[in-house]
Amino acid sequence: MSVVNLGLPRVPATQDLPARPRPDNPALVDTFGRVATDLRVSLTDRCNLRCSYCMPAEGLPWLPSENVLTDEELLRLLRIAVNRLGVTDIRLTGGEPLLRPGLEGLVAEIARLRPRPRLSLTTNGIGLAKRAAALRQAGLDRINVSLDTVDRETFTRLARRDRLSHVLAGLAAAREAGLDPVKVNAVLLRGVNEHQAPRLLRFCLEHGYHLRFIEQMPLDAQHGWNRADMVTAQEILDALRAEFTLTPSPAKRGGAPAERWLVDGGPGDVGVIASVTRPFCAACERTRLTADGAVRSCLFSNDETDLRGLLRGGADDEEVARAWRMTMWGKLAGHEINEAGFAQPIRPMSAIGG
Ligand code: SAM
Ligand code: SF4
Repeated sequence: MSVVNLGLPRVPATQDLPARPRPDNPALVDTFGRVATDLRVSLTDRCNLRCSYCMPAEGLPWLPSENVLTDEELLRLLRIAVNRLGVTDIRLTGGEPLLRPGLEGLVAEIARLRPRPRLSLTTNGIGLAKRAAALRQAGLDRINVSLDTVDRETFTRLARRDRLSHVLAGLAAAREAGLDPVKVNAVLLRGVNEHQAPRLLRFCLEHGYHLRFIEQMPLDAQHGWNRADMVTAQEILDALRAEFTLTPSPAKRGGAPAERWLVDGGPGDVGVIASVTRPFCAACERTRLTADGAVRSCLFSNDETDLRGLLRGGADDEEVARAWRMTMWGKLAGHEINEAGFAQPIRPMSAIGG
């Protein structure tokens, strides 16, 4: 396999925690000077779709329910994150977060944390039509809905369920409820929806949704990812440029993973998240919590720290905060997908929280 130089410091995946002592800083700092303020929380590993780039058709063995954090445990961890660790943004994801019982109540509790975090949700949109207004009312600020195609047959093939109309109704309800912005996440698969990028963009522009294409990453449970089949950011941009004029967006990127372009002079825009071909690890601001209470410094981490065990073992808040800080201190420079010897993480995307 060829090795691509990412322009990032190269650190072997097998490294031990950095020997450098951690400074006395309450925030989630790492040895490369990054500070994690954006927390991705998986509420469940379960899902009601079977997107082929994520899960096998038969699904996965789900986490036993006694291993999943209770609302009380989860809220305690989120309080620690906001009060002690400087987390300012919380995104709820999964698996499919709308399957978490009592989601609206959980959102309301999170919105009561002070300082109040910005609160967003990533969902496949099934069932959202009936719940968007209540989620907004409970305090949800923003939403990302995953939609890879607006063609019913392609949707059914890709997600292995005939649910396109449910997702479209969910999107419309999100906009109606005042969630702003409503973003659409799309993954393109070679030979499935690879030629549908312009059509999807036209649909999103017409409805006022902000479209983001995400390069397919090696995070599927069945380990089916292969570099040659991945539709690259460059290919996506070339296909869009055949039908639209794209100019770099003046919006500040900061730690955001998407490179953004104005479409036909704006105001509509489109983003491309080139996780594999143009990694943005050097600007990463993320920390991750799995549904069973493990903290991870990266989607691609090989290690994680079990905070649920600490909670259930009687640790106090500062002990939990310390363990979280040490996990992030050990964050590697980059994800190493483009390095020889890259090994996919054991947990698939659906169990980490995408
Ligand atoms: N079920 C929800 C959904 O689909 O939005 C939330 C969880 S899903 C894992 C979060 C995001 O990850 C989705 O936008 C999905 O398209 C994306 N995703 C899943 N597997 C992926 C992969 N192998 N590469 C890139 N993105 C992926
Ligand atoms: Fe479910 Fe989201 Fe994975 Fe699709 S991408 S199978 S909706 S978790």
